[in-house]
Amino acid sequence: MPGPGTVRYGGNTTCLEIRSGSDIIILDAGTGARALGKALLAEFGHRPLQLNLLISHTHWDHIQGFPFFAPIYEPRCRLTIMGCANSRPSLEAAFAGQMETTYFPVEFEKLASQIDIQELPERDFAIGSTLVRAHRANHPGLCAGFRLQTPAGTICFFPDTEPNAGGDDRSMLDFIRAADVLILDSQYDHAEFKKRAGWGHGCVDKSVALALEAGVKKLILFHHDPDHDDKKIDLLLRHAKQIVIKKKGSLRVEAAREGLVIRLSGKKRVK
Ligand SMILES: [Zn+2]
Ligand SMILES: [Zn+2]
Repeated sequence: MPGPGTVRYGGNTTCLEIRSGSDIIILDAGTGARALGKALLAEFGHRPLQLNLLISHTHWDHIQGFPFFAPIYEPRCRLTIMGCANSRPSLEAAFAGQMETTYFPVEFEKLASQIDIQELPERDFAIGSTLVRAHRANHPGLCAGFRLQTPAGTICFFPDTEPNAGGDDRSMLDFIRAADVLILDSQYDHAEFKKRAGWGHGCVDKSVALALEAGVKKLILFHHDPDHDDKKIDLLLRHAKQIVIKKKGSLRVEAAREGLVIRLSGKKRVK
């Protein structure tokens, strides 16, 4: 939650940006989308803007920033939204639904930008020079995680997922194997996780274990609990690093924070 307790890690919900050459891929449209939209318009000025928005799922914290994403009001912006529909009949219905007049003053159909909505294909697909593959996450409803293979490195993004109760995460392990960056739901500490099994979120201990086993280079602890403040996240991060030391691993761990930029091969960045 935003406030004095979260000034370092931030209080917005999920929204990340990947730049690969001239390709712009946005991962989810949580409340962080507002600041990203402003930054993109400031950067591009009056030039046309081509954006790709990949949606893991349509839970509110992953789409509620969309109506506040300024590029959607600009005719010079082309936006391709890709994701799965969850329980609504279509992905478009989920996006348009949250902009019905009950909830928002501007309706989806009236947006000035050129928006193309596509359901996720079954197979791998390309966004410019990035190859994208989806994998089902263990989360209520339909929720995907993505493996994005850019020319500069591989990023795996699982914002909302719970480790399988039986401990069999074999397909997940294969999916994330050797990723340069793994952005993974690590919402709870071990005690909280035990109390909230079945809620569809992760645990720091299990995230680190999974990343170590999969040979991931960098793990980003993600989807911070709304009740966790900066101090608590510091503690979780320290705990994660201690596990890595104990296991003599080379995995690097960071906690996601607003404005964090990661460069792959010195050129690419994940925001
Ligand atoms: Zn969710
Ligand atoms: Zn979420």
